[in-house]
Amino acid sequence: MDCLFCNIATKKVSSEIVTEDEDFLAFRDIYPKARIHLLVIPKRHIESLKDIGGRDSDLIGRLMLKVAEIAREQGLEGYKVGINVGKKGGQEVDHLHIHLLGNA
Ligand code: 5GP
Ligand code: ZN
Repeated sequence: MDCLFCNIATKKVSSEIVTEDEDFLAFRDIYPKARIHLLVIPKRHIESLKDIGGRDSDLIGRLMLKVAEIAREQGLEGYKVGINVGKKGGQEVDHLHIHLLGNA
């Protein structure tokens, strides 16, 4: 399986990484739609929010905590968090990712 965001997570494809730990990676969106536009992903390949189940509750919970922590570190007072789900939901890259967008 050739997945762009798996390749970004393993550094086979370069990106502007903002922060990383064992389970998550945050990097700048290549076409930013806000002053700060980050993509936060689990390193483990999950195709879409549609594919999560009870076994993922800990990972998804920690992913949201990570997004809030990154927003704090970026100095954002307010921001938007979004997930596109499925082709019909505007998802272009089939590896679960959270858009974190903030201007202020
Ligand atoms: P989606 O539409 O799947 O929710 O969002 C995919 C996002 O990935 C888009 O905002 C797009 O700009 C971004 N993107 C696509 N290819 C690359 C890439 O190679 N590197 C980075 N950093 N972002 C990418
Ligand atoms: Zn992947």
